[in-house]
Amino acid sequence: MIVKVDAKISSENLERIIERLQNDYKLKLHFSYGEEYTIIGVVGDTSVIDTDRILSIDGVADVQRVQEPYKRASRKFHPEDTIVKVGDVEIGGNNLVMMAGPCSVENEKQIIDTAKAVKAAGATMLRGGVVKPRTSPYAFQGLGMEGIELMKKAKEETGLPIICEVMSIEQLDKFGPHLDMIQLGARNMQNFDLLKAVGKTNIPVLLKRGLSATIEEWLMSAEYILAGGNENVVLCERGIRTYETAYRNVLDLNAVPMLKKLTHLPIVVDSAHATGKYWMVKPLGMAGVAAGADGLMVEVHPEPDKALSDGPQSLKFNVFEDLMQDVEKIANVLGKTFKKEK
Ligand code: PEP
Ligand code: MN
Repeated sequence: MIVKVDAKISSENLERIIERLQNDYKLKLHFSYGEEYTIIGVVGDTSVIDTDRILSIDGVADVQRVQEPYKRASRKFHPEDTIVKVGDVEIGGNNLVMMAGPCSVENEKQIIDTAKAVKAAGATMLRGGVVKPRTSPYAFQGLGMEGIELMKKAKEETGLPIICEVMSIEQLDKFGPHLDMIQLGARNMQNFDLLKAVGKTNIPVLLKRGLSATIEEWLMSAEYILAGGNENVVLCERGIRTYETAYRNVLDLNAVPMLKKLTHLPIVVDSAHATGKYWMVKPLGMAGVAAGADGLMVEVHPEPDKALSDGPQSLKFNVFEDLMQDVEKIANVLGKTFKKEK
């Protein structure tokens, strides 16, 4: 642990820090004196320290733990941005990717028409669920393998790499070889056996944030996959549950710059599940890009009022085009490469 104190800290307060760390916690201290700050390196089992008790002392500028519980996901151990390759698409670095498609694959015409429309508007990847984590067991559950075949057909027609969710190891084994990227949904962020199984593959994975997961829990889930040897992990902020009921979830935009600081893994914002309302998808998506996201995921449907899942947050084709144009403006301001293959 590192304690950064003001060089002008009073001797009493400095004494208080030393006393607390040495006497209360029995740790060794190393001092290095700079012009503006004195850095105290704390050696020993720092996990017992209540950092707030140190931060509360006047003159303490910062207290930083050197060791996070996640190592492979941490930027400290891997300062460079990770770029995850999905087919020809690169996620991370200076690229801005757009993953678009229906919530669920419903039939051939729906997925092919949508794939063509999102491609024409400049999307870089096609999404579509074939197994759905529905709240009700009576709601549409997805087409399964038939849906995978339709996604492959859409890929053939458009050249867009495809991403589908898997909810079990069985589905991972069955669908994985056909996909360019797999999605682990919010409800499975802490399905540790599934995380371990995904870690043993080399398939790029989009790891969505759990419904009420903290950043640290989320990064620990990423750590499971990385620890298994699969380094192709992209995080997806999709809104968290709060006390607010006016919209489906709350898009935690804080997560974007925070994750950029903590981890080298790319981060994508899903402003569809984060809001649950089609007219909120564009403003929040733009905000996500402005906050530094490496990409967006949105849901697009030819006729949202007929969608078998998530119609209220699905964009019609012309609304998606409009979103793409405005996102491109932000990408240009940020100097990001926004690959629109028409
Ligand atoms: C989805 O992408 O359709 C989905 C179910 O997402 P989430 O896991 O974020 O709810
Ligand atoms: Mn959905």
